[in-house]
Amino acid sequence: MSDIGTILAIPGDGIGTEVVAEGLKVLEAVSKKFGFSFTLKEALAGGIAYDKTGTPLPQKTLDMAKESDAVLLGAVGGPKWEDLDYSVRPERALLGLRAELGLFANLRPAKVFPELADASTLKKEVVEGIDIMVLRELTGGIYFGEPKGITKLEDGTERGVNTLIYTTGEIERIARVAFETARKRGKKVTSVDKANVLECTELWRKVVIKVHKDYQDVELGHMYVDNCAMQLIRNPKQFDVILTTNLFGDILSDEAAMLTGSIGMLPSASVGGKCGMYEPVHGSAPDIAGQGKANPLATILSVAMMLRYSLNCLEAADAIETAVASVLKEGYRTPDIMDDKGQLTGTAKMGDLVVKALNQ
Ligand code: NAD
Repeated sequence: MSDIGTILAIPGDGIGTEVVAEGLKVLEAVSKKFGFSFTLKEALAGGIAYDKTGTPLPQKTLDMAKESDAVLLGAVGGPKWEDLDYSVRPERALLGLRAELGLFANLRPAKVFPELADASTLKKEVVEGIDIMVLRELTGGIYFGEPKGITKLEDGTERGVNTLIYTTGEIERIARVAFETARKRGKKVTSVDKANVLECTELWRKVVIKVHKDYQDVELGHMYVDNCAMQLIRNPKQFDVILTTNLFGDILSDEAAMLTGSIGMLPSASVGGKCGMYEPVHGSAPDIAGQGKANPLATILSVAMMLRYSLNCLEAADAIETAVASVLKEGYRTPDIMDDKGQLTGTAKMGDLVVKALNQ
């Protein structure tokens, strides 16, 4: 039996614990089916970590993550911790993990399962069959550039500044992730910038074109960000991999996600260093936490991404995605994706159904 490595589970707060339990259930089942083993560890982060240790990201958690091959995270945060100082807010744990693990690339797929095409606010014929991967640069750009801040001016008014910076090295490494990712999918990259106005993204375009020389089997196109925002609504099926900066990716990945219509279905991956981090896009959903209503499919699909991008178990990843599709095809639905023909299912039952479909 081959050993695929160490996986650190960080359930976090709210529905995080409920959905991670289902993700691990499916991981266990797929490991049996494909005959591999793994070491599973668990650590604290977020509000629960603050309550138990006084910090949302204990050093022990960070050390355990650095020694792992992949992290599966649920969600952090909730009303209980909203009044805390920013430095100890549960959400700081995410930023800390990303920075410390060197996760410079964020992968967010937006895929519409045929059975859920009606869940989108767009017309069925526009969204049916879309399969987009938004690749967002995660540790550079305007969110981190210096100088930044708000200063007082002599006339009593204020001046706010942020700085957009990218170096050749930062662009090169994210461009390589884009081309490598496209090779495993539809072999097409659309690089999104604002090169007509922002010099920094003129450099972005120049470097992406240079890196593309090493990936001539992948088609490369360029699009200005305003046009991309329109094209995602007008004709989303034209996209395979969208490669973009931190700020543009933040916005476009949410836009692309909403084409699918349901936040409970969306997985994500942050990669770059030795250990990748995989998590559903949604938060801790305090309004439904503890009620067994959360949709675990985003987390289960995050497990599939983890197997594909960090643990090199491509067949197992495909099998999980096929099992999810078949459960949806059979009509099972958690409340967030329920329709008139669906069979209402809770969190744990949905996990069991995916396991059953895997074993068929
Ligand atoms: P949220 O994603 O937690 O919830 C938004 C809405 O979507 C809610 O109505 C919720 O019930 C629903 N929802 C979310 N996930 C669902 C699922 N799996 N199944 C069914 N319904 C689901 O966003 P929010 O309410 O803005 O934030 C709640 C808390 O989560 C806040 O403390 C926020 O800071 C935190 N948060 C954490 C992360 C993260 O850990 N990555 C991301 C976003 C928000």
